[in-house]
Amino acid sequence: TDPSSAKMYFHYYGQLLHQQNMLEDYVRTEAYYAAVTENQADFVGRVVVDVGAGSGILSLFAAQAGAKHVYAVEASEMAEYASKLIAGNPLLAQRITVVKGKAEEIELPEKADILISEPMGTLLVNERMLESYVIARDRFLVPTGKMFPTLGRMHMAPFCDQNLYVEIANNALFWQQEAFYKVDLTPLHEPASQEYFSQPVVDAFDERLLVAQSISHVIDFKSVKEEDLYEIDIPLRFICTNGSQIHGLACWFDVLFNGSTTKRWLTTAPGEPTTHWYQVRCVLSQPLDVMPGQEITGRLHMIAHSAQSYIIHVTMSTELSGPGADQGGNPQTSSAK
Ligand code: SAH
Repeated sequence: TDPSSAKMYFHYYGQLLHQQNMLEDYVRTEAYYAAVTENQADFVGRVVVDVGAGSGILSLFAAQAGAKHVYAVEASEMAEYASKLIAGNPLLAQRITVVKGKAEEIELPEKADILISEPMGTLLVNERMLESYVIARDRFLVPTGKMFPTLGRMHMAPFCDQNLYVEIANNALFWQQEAFYKVDLTPLHEPASQEYFSQPVVDAFDERLLVAQSISHVIDFKSVKEEDLYEIDIPLRFICTNGSQIHGLACWFDVLFNGSTTKRWLTTAPGEPTTHWYQVRCVLSQPLDVMPGQEITGRLHMIAHSAQSYIIHVTMSTELSGPGADQGGNPQTSSAK
């Protein structure tokens, strides 16, 4: 990993404002709180490692649930504040140890029965913190141990959103000017258009914009290998429910807490209460025309890069089927941030 970007990454999480932003995502915080309290049996008398503890909130939840000891591992300067917060909750503090450093590098005096972590980024895998979660699993978790969350699923479906498409296209129109202070800007219209369309759109959208049943890709945190996360290649196949224009691929994720008492999902799906992850849409620079029942095939190809994120390639096309079917074939490249 690029050390300067890692520095920026941990600088970001060292700020209380960003920890507050996550704590104030009540969908997120409630899901963790409920998963822990409903599954107290998984914590009582157990050794817990909190991977990327941030403010220490999940360590405090685990201690509340009766953990024997919690190691709160945090690489950023937030570790100092976590210690302060934990010390200020004296009934729990004696069972929590803050360990400042990377999960990949620190040492712990004992193995964990359960890992707790919030390693999800946009599109689930962005920030590449799942890799740290998996490394922590291999380094600290007993083989029969539990992971909270246990698995994650990426979900994808094509969407139709004329307004979004026009908004992006209009943005690039600036470069269509032939006499901007008597300068012809048009040579940069094409690259500008490409750049703007390749920027994934992170926002909450109306689920009615989806035009086919979503498909999903499961990442089982208990068994996935670190290397499996370097490159993620998902074949796409959708049957369009109605005729429309397809403007791109919408993505969201959920994670499962597979507790021994209850199973609980934390979802970032459209139509569900919005989280700070929102949803992500990759927009095609050329829309696809589809007819009801028509098949769309393609590929979502994600390649991890050194700046804690992924290069995303989305390809979607329609087969030549029936009169009026479009021949599609719009390779689309986006770089997620
Ligand atoms: N667990 C907290 C914070 C989640 S944000 C909560 O749920 O509110 C993720 C945190 O993990 C950040 O504070 C970040 O600095 C930390 N982190 C990311 N990668 C890490 C690593 N490899 N080792 C230790 N901490 C890490």
